[in-house]
Amino acid sequence: MKRYRLRPLATKRILAGERLITIDDFEQTEQAEHLEEGMVIMLSDADRRLNAKALVGRQNKGLAWVFTNEQDEFWDEELLTQRLEAAIEIRQKFLSEDQSVTTAFRLFNGEGDGIGGVTIDWYEAYIQFNWYSRGIYEYREWFVAALQELLPNIKGIYETKRFKLFDNESAIAHTSGEAAPQPLVIKENSIEYAVYLGEDWMTGIFLDQREVRSFVQTQAQDLNVLNLFSYTGAFSVAAAVGGAAKTVSIDVANRSVEKTKEQFALNGIDAQPPQHEVRVMDVFDYVNYAKRHNLTFDLVVCDPPSFARTKKRLFKAEKDYAQLAQDLFDLTAPGGLCILSTNHSGYKKEAFINEMSQVGRSHSGHFQMIQSYGLPFDFPASLDAESHYLKVLVFYRNN
Ligand code: SAH
Repeated sequence: MKRYRLRPLATKRILAGERLITIDDFEQTEQAEHLEEGMVIMLSDADRRLNAKALVGRQNKGLAWVFTNEQDEFWDEELLTQRLEAAIEIRQKFLSEDQSVTTAFRLFNGEGDGIGGVTIDWYEAYIQFNWYSRGIYEYREWFVAALQELLPNIKGIYETKRFKLFDNESAIAHTSGEAAPQPLVIKENSIEYAVYLGEDWMTGIFLDQREVRSFVQTQAQDLNVLNLFSYTGAFSVAAAVGGAAKTVSIDVANRSVEKTKEQFALNGIDAQPPQHEVRVMDVFDYVNYAKRHNLTFDLVVCDPPSFARTKKRLFKAEKDYAQLAQDLFDLTAPGGLCILSTNHSGYKKEAFINEMSQVGRSHSGHFQMIQSYGLPFDFPASLDAESHYLKVLVFYRNN
């Protein structure tokens, strides 16, 4: 194992418990450029206080992930099995609890569970690996063998590769065991959702929003709900099951109508207007339309992608969220709630809170932040800022 020296600031970060290594962290950056995917490297510093080991795996976040600061820990199947075992232990309640409540969750969350570059999701005994670098993917066999031993009831395995592929590789595939039914119906807080494995990057549900869906469900009784960037309408369904009087779901993708209706139908609700509207439309056009017609909602949920490009516009969360929030506060009825979410890791929590609160304060409706959510317990983060991507703020309109 070759030893590389890190710069003082990087050393400090890693000693403090961060795990992400970028090229600029190396004393000699040109050395880092030649590191091969999947290589294990030792990291030290000029004073030899640091004694970390990292696995090289290039992804947009960086070059390598530290997997240990311990001298006697090495990259081998034993370490990997221990990390998976610890991850399963934390989520035991989902695996052992009554299967009528929640049957889909994140089983392993990359660096937050001690190994960066890979996440594993559990959907009713089918699992999906998401590989973020070729380096970590080289150890695929170890992961599969260890998981099958730890969880012998796994029915089938799906995988997505989110790194640059060779010509003969496929990005999304069913790779072993039984194929999942299409759709695979999973439960979350006893609500059913349709999931399609092996078809797309997105499976139909974003598991990291579980607590927010639960909040929406508990608040929605008799409310008039607007769900923006609605995708398969998961927030709308949670609201409807929670007794919402009306839901409006807006997404620019054609598939959203059929997918959203499917989710409602699974839960015994006929998604027909005027009670439940699903509109294929650019959110920004809908917001303008709603403002022009003085429409208001008791509960607004806004969960955009970090970057959204349509024919007319480019939305960048960091730059454009404040304007969007201003408009959404206009659409929130007095006494109503507005939920603003961002999954952009570059948009820091403090900045998001400060900027949204500022918009709230300067609005005539006197908005107050009453609640916030981050990642749920099955999405543990490392200390690295990049790891804490989800920020969800709930604003209450006083008058
Ligand atoms: N809030 C959803 C997840 C959103 S995924 C959930 O909880 O499940 C992002 C969605 O935004 C995608 O479905 C995409 O089609 C949609 N989208 C992106 N840009 C948009 C725009 N300008 N107007 C409407 N929808 C948009």
